[in-house]
Amino acid sequence: TADEIEAGRRAYDLDRAHVFHSWSAQDTLTPMTILKAAGSEVWDGEGRRLIDLSSQLVNTNIGHQHPRVVAAIHAQAGKLCTVAPQYVNEARSEAARLITELVPDGLDHVFFTNAGADAVEHAIRMARLHTGRRKVFAAYRSYHGGTDLAINVTGDPRRFPNDNGDAGVVHFLPAYLYRSYFGATTEAEETERALKHLEDMIVLEGPSNVAAVILETVPGTAGIFGPPAGYLEGVREITRKYGIMYIADEVMAGFGRTGEWFAFQRWGVVPDLVTFAKGVTSGYVPLGGVIISDPVFDTFRQRAYPGGLTYSGHPLACAAAVATIGAMRDERMVENAKRLGEDVIGPALEAMKAKHPSVGDVRGSGVFWAIELVKDRQTREPLAAYGGSSPEMNAVIAEIKAGGVLPFANFNRVHVVPALNIPDDQLREALAVVDHALDVADAAVAR
Ligand code: PLP
Repeated sequence: TADEIEAGRRAYDLDRAHVFHSWSAQDTLTPMTILKAAGSEVWDGEGRRLIDLSSQLVNTNIGHQHPRVVAAIHAQAGKLCTVAPQYVNEARSEAARLITELVPDGLDHVFFTNAGADAVEHAIRMARLHTGRRKVFAAYRSYHGGTDLAINVTGDPRRFPNDNGDAGVVHFLPAYLYRSYFGATTEAEETERALKHLEDMIVLEGPSNVAAVILETVPGTAGIFGPPAGYLEGVREITRKYGIMYIADEVMAGFGRTGEWFAFQRWGVVPDLVTFAKGVTSGYVPLGGVIISDPVFDTFRQRAYPGGLTYSGHPLACAAAVATIGAMRDERMVENAKRLGEDVIGPALEAMKAKHPSVGDVRGSGVFWAIELVKDRQTREPLAAYGGSSPEMNAVIAEIKAGGVLPFANFNRVHVVPALNIPDDQLREALAVVDHALDVADAAVAR
């Protein structure tokens, strides 16, 4: 309506006057206004409808404004908005029960945080205290959060301006077959060589100094490159051999995105600590946490855990989590994500690859897919450099938005990461827009 659009214009002006935005040079921004959203559709400041192929920051896993979750938040707000973490609360207890029910036995306790970064911080603190060691191994081409330790664990360029040499982090090269750092041309080679590299580095750093290896099960923002067969099993074996904690960061990959509740379940490994956030509440209320294995839990039976947060297990957030998990289960959304990956997104992306010379690689599962754009399929030169953008990528993104789709893009990649319950017709409509936009990228390709 005209009133909504007017309110949106005022919000825009106030935003530009007073709101400080993440990761950005403030003067370069012209942020899109979102007036309202429902399911997988959003309406911009001019009232134009767009299909959300980004799930915002890959977190609105059940779409916007799911009535069951909205009602649960209302009901909890009417009953008890907040209590301090030392008190028992029904919503928190139930959320912890439901979350631990989703993972294998032996992962029976949850420490709730406000989001993903602090989940990572606490998982590392637990690993350090449990092992009595300090070093943390983390992969290049990863993202683990924006707080001081989490950004230093991160292996992407956002770390550079935040580098803290005292963080105790050692970075290793990931298994990433399309751009293999090990000269591998098959999955088996990549697995073998990436594992040898990791173990060599652990030995050279002194295994008795290493508290944890943290890995996104499927690296998300870094490019949705699922681990080659045997890699995670190998990481589990190496970490066990040296008494190192294996932390699975499932902040983005968890809660159904890959077509499994947690991505690590697909590879049959059991981590020592699991971090989650994002999809646990579909982002409706901020929540994150660490799922703790029994041996780590035992460390803190008699010894106080030196950490906490005012909002650990906030009732509004936990009520949202309970309703989100309930809706995901009852509406079989994880199964649906798997089906969408197999029957709709996968085939559509393969067709785009066959048609567009700018598409170097497509990969993913569930509702977690990347299209990697290149200037040259032979050399695999990316359409935007690592850590950067390019006029060609900006043109592709602009074309997708002009077609009425909200994309998620990073460097030379466009990610297809819709909600688990996006209606098939909206998904197909959005994929057709992406397909069309890739014509723009093709113009930049060496022939
Ligand atoms: N870990 C992973 C894998 C993520 O993708 C993110 C956010 O994108 C984080 C951690 C940090 O989560 P948050 O932004 O909620 O702090």
